[in-house]
Formats: sequence, structure tokens, C-alpha cells
Amino acid sequence: MNHEVMVATCSGPPEDLAGRRALHAAVELADGLGWPLVHARLGSAAEPSAAVRLAQRARRAVASRDPGAVVLGTGPVAREVAGRLAAGWSCALVADCCRLVVRGGVARLSRGALGNRVTAEIEWDRTGPLLLTLAPGAFEDAPGAVEPAGAEVVDLADVVEDDEVAGIMARVRILRIENLPAKEIDVRDAEVVVSGGAGAGGVDGFALLTALAERVGGAVGASRAAVDLGWIGREHQVGNTGKHVAPKVYVAVGISGASQHLAGIRSAGAVLAVNKDRRAPIFETADLGVVAPMDDVVPPLLARLETIAGDRDRLDP
Ligand SMILES: Cc1cc2nc3c(=O)[nH]c(=O)nc-3n(C[C@H](O)[C@H](O)[C@H](O)COP(=O)(O)OP(=O)(O)OC[C@H]3O[C@@H](n4cnc5c(N)ncnc54)[C@H](O)[C@@H]3O)c2cc1C
Repeated sequence: MNHEVMVATCSGPPEDLAGRRALHAAVELADGLGWPLVHARLGSAAEPSAAVRLAQRARRAVASRDPGAVVLGTGPVAREVAGRLAAGWSCALVADCCRLVVRGGVARLSRGALGNRVTAEIEWDRTGPLLLTLAPGAFEDAPGAVEPAGAEVVDLADVVEDDEVAGIMARVRILRIENLPAKEIDVRDAEVVVSGGAGAGGVDGFALLTALAERVGGAVGASRAAVDLGWIGREHQVGNTGKHVAPKVYVAVGISGASQHLAGIRSAGAVLAVNKDRRAPIFETADLGVVAPMDDVVPPLLARLETIAGDRDRLDP
């Protein structure tokens, strides 16, 4: 095992941002250990079945360099690459790492456990290699640097797949890609999260928000108040005692914007808020705010989206 840290990133939304955070985490680990950093660029995560190709490239990079630690980013592709890589490599895997501290050559890693209700502290003793993936929202204070100074860059984007991958791809035929029902998508993985709060008014309000999330291929989130009222399951709760999310768009409907809720959406891209109270604190965070009862906004928006989708289906059956 060589004393070097490898960070493997892929390009293409939504992995770009995760790649930046992975670089940040890898720099912290490499600096703390005093090890050099190698940046393996695996290629685009946007192509279908990308994880199979990217995992193969990651395996190649690991086989040729034998690094002491590999850092991957966050998101579904990074997770699948990690799983495939770990399966054939005798390493310690810490998935969804949210914090990393290196002192005296010892790395301490934290990750949420039991639905994020407790934090597991893991110590890596360096007797074998380590593989890390990051929790959504972790290392969000990552600076904008694209490439850490002094890192050796290995570009694997053009590596042609070998017989194994070609064999897998030849046996795989993608018939169609279907979105999971909104309620089954983990809010941490979604590019769009439609969240409801106490202002959603009940189970019927959440049915409307679920339909909206469904229409845009997103997930359904909730404030703790809505969860405590029993309108939706706790796995949907966003916030500091819920999940930390990092969608491109976060839609907050009937959510006041309490600090504990906002703690969960710090890594969100654009925040859209619908609230009937113009003084609701959520508007201080929102990029776009609509002051109105949700019934004035959500049903017409849904109807408009249905019309657009219908027009598209007619043009492109
Ligand atoms: C230790 C601790 C941890 C916590 N962790 C979390 C957490 O992880 N996540 C979390 O969310 N909260 C958490 N909370 C709770 C948090 O403090 C708030 O109580 C909670 O976020 C409020 O939820 P809400 O915004 O849905 O409800 P409310 O604060 O009651 O706000 C409801 C909003 O809906 C608006 N509204 C009402 N009717 C309508 C309508 N018809 N159309 C549009 N808008 C309407 C109102 O104007 C209001 O702004 C935590 C609290 C503590 C003490």
C-alpha cells in the first residue's frame, strides 16, 4: 500500500459539485497525513450505466497506484462506484462520511447511523486501505478551487472499456428509464425536493405536494412539524435532526423557515418558498418567494406542468 491519497471525481451534473467537495475532503486527509494527492478524473457521470464504466476506471487507477486512501464524492453514481470498487478491493469502506479530522497521523471519520439519529465515530489505523464516500451536504464549506495545488492529475476519461465492461454492456439493453415514485426517492439523492410544512394543512396537502414532486421527478420532503403531525413519514424530514439535502431546487411550501429546518437545506441550489405570511423567515433564505396560500399556487402549477407534459407527449410520442 502506497502512502498517497487518491481522489476520484467524475464530471456532469449532479456530480460536479460533489467532485469539488471530494477534492476538499481529500486535501484535508492528505495534508493531515502528510501524503501526496493524486486526482483521478474518471469521466462523465451523465452517460447511461456510467457507474459501470467509472468503477472500472477507478479499479484500474487503484490497481496501478495501490493508494492508501481513496476519496469519492456523493450522489448515486459515486455510491455505486464505491460499492463496485469495494467489492473487489480489500479496503475499509466508510460511506457517507460527514466529518474528517486527522491528528497525530490518525484519521477520525464521522458518519450518520440509525437514520442519522446517532453519529458513528470511526478511527482508521492505516493498517489497510480506506475508501470514503461523502454524505450529501458534507464539506459544503469547500472552497471553489477546481484543482488542489500540487496534486498529480490522472485523466482516465478516455480509457476504453475492457472486455468485462463491454461484455456487461452487450448484455444490457435499456428499454426505458422510469422515475421512482416521489415518496420512494431519498430526499438526499434528489435534484428537486418539494417539501411541506404545517402550512400544507394535512395528508391531502401532502398528496398534492407528492403529485408535484412526481411531475418533476423529485422527492418529497417535510418539516418536523408535518412529520410530528403524522402527515408523512420521518424519513422525509429535512433539517438538523432530519436529513441534510443538496438538491438543485428546493421548494418549501407552508414552511416557516425555522433555523433547525434551514440547517438541512444549506447545500440546496435555488430555494423557492410558498407561504401565506409575508413575514415568514423562509423568505430571507428563498431565491424566489410567493406570498399566497398554497391552494392558490400548487394546483395551478401542477395543472400547467401537466399541460406542458401532455403537449410534449403529443409532439414526441
Ligand atoms: C432540537 C430541535 C430539533 C429540530 N429539528 C428540526 C428538523 O430537523 N427539521 C425541522 O423542520 N424542524 C426541526 N425542529 C422544529 C423547528 O424548530 C420548527 O418547529 C419546525 O421546523 C416548524 O415547522 P413548520 O415550518 O412546518 O411549521 P410552522 O412553524 O408552524 O410554520 C408553518 C408555516 O406555514 C405557513 N402557512 C400556514 N398555512 C399556509 C397555507 N395554507 N399556505 C401557505 N403557507 C401556509 C405559515 O405562515 C407558517 O409560516 C427542531 C426543533 C428543535 C427544538
